Amino acid sequence: MKDPSQDFADQGPRPAFQGLTDDDWQDRLRRARAELEECRACPRDCGVNRLEGKWSACKTGRHAVVASYFPHFGEEDCLRGWNGSGTIFFAHCNLRCVFCQNHDISQDIRPRAGVGVPAARVAGMMLELQGLGCHNINFVTPEHVVPQVVEALHEAAFRGLRLPVVYNTSAYDALHSLELMDGMVDIYMPDFKYWSSEASRKYMKAEDYPEYARTAIREMHRQVGKLRVDDEGLAQKGLIVRHLVMPGGLDETRQILRWVAEELGPETYVNLMDQYRPDGAVGPERYPELNRTLTGGELREARNMARELGLRNLDERRPHRRLRARLGVL
Ligand code: SF4
Repeated sequence: MKDPSQDFADQGPRPAFQGLTDDDWQDRLRRARAELEECRACPRDCGVNRLEGKWSACKTGRHAVVASYFPHFGEEDCLRGWNGSGTIFFAHCNLRCVFCQNHDISQDIRPRAGVGVPAARVAGMMLELQGLGCHNINFVTPEHVVPQVVEALHEAAFRGLRLPVVYNTSAYDALHSLELMDGMVDIYMPDFKYWSSEASRKYMKAEDYPEYARTAIREMHRQVGKLRVDDEGLAQKGLIVRHLVMPGGLDETRQILRWVAEELGPETYVNLMDQYRPDGAVGPERYPELNRTLTGGELREARNMARELGLRNLDERRPHRRLRARLGVL
């Protein structure tokens, strides 16, 4: 049977990791193991030996924990195409967002020995997703498992993976972990959540988030540049900046958008996300200011801000004709 990803994979660009030599891979694997030995893989800098299965703030030991993997049709059009984005959701997280809409897998899940997935199995997931025709491999919440992602990609590349790699992150990433991924990631997709350290401390339990996020996004931009898509509108390489617009949070939004326009350039692809709904620890008693959805006015104002700042590549949903046909939508 013909592999449905073949059309894109054969005609599309070579994923970045195919440019790595054997020596490059060996160097990356060595550095990945060193990161795990005294873990500084993310800005939490815990220093535990994860090679021995120990864990700390991210509750993840030697192996990554995968919550789910599937072709995702809710991502940006340039990622979901018509066969979906091959998403691998990692469990646990290095942030503690009080409003997290995935808190069941990011914060509530108990760490348990033996639930981690070795690199060979994660590679097998990538190949299954490729076999289903997905247009890319989309690692969600990889900040705390960068060394494990390197190991899994090495295995998958050896076994025939040929899809672009998406690094889908909160942007609470360590610079040296991103340097480890240089030449392996085709599309970086950071969600720049908060600009101020006050809001970051209050809502994500990470006062230093804004500083790390700015450094990380600058490095992502250095590695892959602005977003490029092919003739079908599928992302080939580049940066997609997401920002979840929060209720009452337009001052934060303005500062983030201004930084993106000035630092990364007005052509930066930006997705202003409007799907916030109260979840996690948010309720009438705790964080009541977040206990509502966005108003239409807030979203409009956020989009106007972006345009006034000159940002001209805002995400608009225009499903690919083959996806519309698949969904039975004209
Ligand atoms: S990846 Fe986990 S163990 Fe390593 S520094 Fe970050 S939170 Fe700590």
